[in-house]
This record gives sequence, C-alpha cells and structure tokens, in this order.
Amino acid sequence: MLRMKSALPYALGALDWDPPHLHNLQHCYCYCGGPGHWNLKMLQCSRCWQWFHEACTQCLAQPLLYGDRFYVFECSVCRGGAESVRRLPLRWVDVAHLLLYHLSVCCKKKYFDLEREILPFANSNWEALLLGQLAATPKAERYGRLLGALSTHKDRFVSGREMKKRKGLFGLHTRAPPPLPPHLLRGRPSPTAGPAPSPSPGRGKGGARRRPSPRRAQGPPGGSYNFRRTESRGPPSPPIRMFASFHPSASTESSSPTPDPDPAPPPARSRPRPPSPGPSPSAPPPAQAPPPAQAPPPAQAPPPRVLARRVTLDGTVQYLLERGGGAAL
Ligand code: ZN
Ligand code: ZN
Repeated sequence: MLRMKSALPYALGALDWDPPHLHNLQHCYCYCGGPGHWNLKMLQCSRCWQWFHEACTQCLAQPLLYGDRFYVFECSVCRGGAESVRRLPLRWVDVAHLLLYHLSVCCKKKYFDLEREILPFANSNWEALLLGQLAATPKAERYGRLLGALSTHKDRFVSGREMKKRKGLFGLHTRAPPPLPPHLLRGRPSPTAGPAPSPSPGRGKGGARRRPSPRRAQGPPGGSYNFRRTESRGPPSPPIRMFASFHPSASTESSSPTPDPDPAPPPARSRPRPPSPGPSPSAPPPAQAPPPAQAPPPAQAPPPRVLARRVTLDGTVQYLLERGGGAAL
C-alpha cells in the first residue's frame, strides 16, 4: 500500500487550481487521480495542498463528516511513508456548524430540529466526532451548549422562529462547511478567501498564494446547492438513517434496504469511492476478482471494498480491493 502511495500517477504541479485551492480544472485529486469534491469526505494535505479521498487514506480512526476540515493531514507522498493526521480543536460553534452541514448534505434539507434530530445524531456519534476537550461534556449539557452556539451566531445559523417555522428548528444561512479559524489556517488558502463566490462569512485570511489561476474550475458545491423550500414538511429524517450515512462501514452488509432518495453525496453509502465520470469504469471490473480458489463462497461473500484507485499515465484504471474483511488484498 505504501509503495502504491509513494508517488502520484500524475503531475501535481501541472494542475490548474482555483484561487482557494479547492478544485482543479483537471478534476484530478488524491493518490488515485480520480475526481472528487473537497467537502465530500476528503482530506487536504497540509504540505502539498492536494485533496485526498477518505476511502484512499488509511490514517483515519473515524469516518469523516462532510465538510470537516478540522484535521492536519499529511499525505504519504509528502511524508515519504505512512500518512499522518491530527485532529484540530473545535469550539461549540464549529460543532454545531459541522453537524448542521453534515446533516444538510445527507438529508438534503435545510432545517433540523435540535432536540429531535441534531442532538440525537450528535449523541449517537459522539465518540466518532472526535471533539477533543468538548468530548467530556456530559450528555445533559450538550443540548444547552448546542443551543447556545446556534442561538448566538446569527451570522451562521438561522432559527426556525426567525423564519416563522417551528421554534426548535435551526439551519445554516449558507450551506457551506465551517471555516477554519484564521489561526489554524497556517498559510493554507481558505475556501472563503479570494474571489471565490463562496458566500460563507469571510473568516480566513490565508489568501490564494499558490498557483493562482484566473480560471475557476467550478464553484464550490457547498455554496451552489439549492435548498429545498419545503424543508419543514419534508419526509422525516430519522437519526438512524443519518447514522447509517455517517458510518458507511457499518452499513455495508445490507447497504440500503430502502432506496435512498438522496443521490447527491456519492460516498454516503457502503464504503465510499470517488465518483467516476468519464471513461473510467464506475465500479471495479469483475475481471479483477481473485481466483475462485481464494474467493469465499459467493453466497456469503461481502462485496469487495475499494481501498484505492489510480489512473496510470496510459489511462489504465487500477483498483486495490479488500476481500473477506481484510483477509485478501
Ligand atoms: Zn482517491
Ligand atoms: Zn501531500
């Protein structure tokens, strides 16, 4: 795995980035060279600034939330060895923002009930949120903390009461991930800096210093989604469904007994793999299956998990698959 990830199958320096360094014209990211969206479960290397799919990294102990940039990650190429990752501290306003953003991407609606949706989701995933010092907050205090953050940051959150909806509902003014505090940007380009049309509040001061390009590859998806207007009357979003989305590995067995009406976040179900437009096959070809002698009985065989994908210079798509719960690679 490390050998495979020791070099990129493309020229990183040849990519044309937008000023905030979120998208490139070539749609080329990660070790695999595949497409992706920075706010859909990707990590940015703090050294080369390339974005990497969660599914192609090996360093995370917990699944990524959508739009969660509160990590310092270094890729295998930059480190010349195993990846490293460190969780950054979060404040309550960041937690509330992350939860709302993640839920809004998962459920395609704007408003969520703090008591019935946001809090149960947070409690169900408390350990996985990696909240650092805030993780010690007793369950009984979490509601008050989240309510405090949601009520006092009017620049980020809108309450149902303001919108003549139910009192306990909260949503994001703009469906954008939480910005990193300026002191944590460490010279990174900020998604809110520069001429990018991201409508989130300008908090970063990183500036676009690297490979500035007058061309924009494409607008940040976070700022361009349209919210459904019938949010409060939409179908209920039981926390269990969000939980399944948040824990892709926990839902691989019976991936989706019910059809998922939300096609937007591609890596939401089973083990995520990068979306694959273009000529690449969207799923590992069956021809790459191991010989039958090694394969478990088909009736019980779990689907292979794509650990990494890369496009070689001659256009060949290669997959690294895990079968039998890691028994065979
Ligand atoms: Zn990848
Ligand atoms: Zn790197």
